[in-house]
Amino acid sequence: MIKKKTIGLLIIIAVATPVKARDIEATRITQDVIVIHGGGGNTTVARTDSGIIVVDSFVSPQAAREAKDIIIKYFPDIPIKYLINTHYHSDHVRGNQHFRDALIIGHANLEKHMMDDYDQLIKKYGSYDEKIMELENRINEVTVETGEAAHKLKEDSLFLKEAKTFLEEFIPTPPSLHITSDSILTIGGKIFEILYFGTAHTDNDLVILSREDQLLIMVDLLFHRNCYIINSTSDVKNWISILDKMIKRSAEYKYVIPGHGAVVVDANALVEQRDYLNIIWNTVTDARHRGLTLDQIKKEIKLDGYKEFIDYDKIGLDIEACWHQLER
Ligand SMILES: [Zn+2]
Repeated sequence: MIKKKTIGLLIIIAVATPVKARDIEATRITQDVIVIHGGGGNTTVARTDSGIIVVDSFVSPQAAREAKDIIIKYFPDIPIKYLINTHYHSDHVRGNQHFRDALIIGHANLEKHMMDDYDQLIKKYGSYDEKIMELENRINEVTVETGEAAHKLKEDSLFLKEAKTFLEEFIPTPPSLHITSDSILTIGGKIFEILYFGTAHTDNDLVILSREDQLLIMVDLLFHRNCYIINSTSDVKNWISILDKMIKRSAEYKYVIPGHGAVVVDANALVEQRDYLNIIWNTVTDARHRGLTLDQIKKEIKLDGYKEFIDYDKIGLDIEACWHQLER
């Protein structure tokens, strides 16, 4: 049930992530830390003696509700004290409303993006009742003529019904504590460093480091073995520099949480990600100096070493994003 909804919602938000939605499930990392997967971006949950910290809230209120049930199952009778949003992308913040009893923390730039995103959603899907009716009328008309066309219309109609279910429940809930620079959160004898390095994946990315839990939460600053990771607004040079900084601190953590997919151990994944971004960046910079056009670069440069990465066929989009950054 949730799986279906999540698939639809991932299409609605059109976030450039390679994640495939699946059933919501948790992985226990240590006695005090679990990561919940499957409802959008990864949600990390850290227990302390004075309460729980949750990082990111999934893609929808429906998914967040399910995640909360999992949190209660693993850590019964412990209050959730803080929710930290790592950035505004909808697959990380759209379950916030279910954490309103906690203090919600995010970068100061987050709220504006979140509300713009909501306005666009309403503009696009707000009149879903009329659109669903229109689609269903068309389904009835075409069924006799061609099954395939009817199938497509039924899919569109199902998608709009999922959007309707989502929008009827969703209340955009921005952080109430806005941070603009590195901050320290102390709770239950543990220290959580909340780090802000400027624009990289977005202009409001937060990285969280807990030495007591040996935990580094990179979220969408780490896409493990993936191409197609650079947005048009990303700052690739700064992203590389953030990876460098966290690689230098590798003695302080063991478990690294990417935005999507499995947890990785130690800094190797960060090194691999930094090297990938460096190669793309340097390749595009060099090709521009040689006077190549964007089309020529995309055609001539294959970067075969990354064939095993997910979405290798979309590596041209990362090249394009670097090209546009160099033009800014
Ligand atoms: Zn993101």
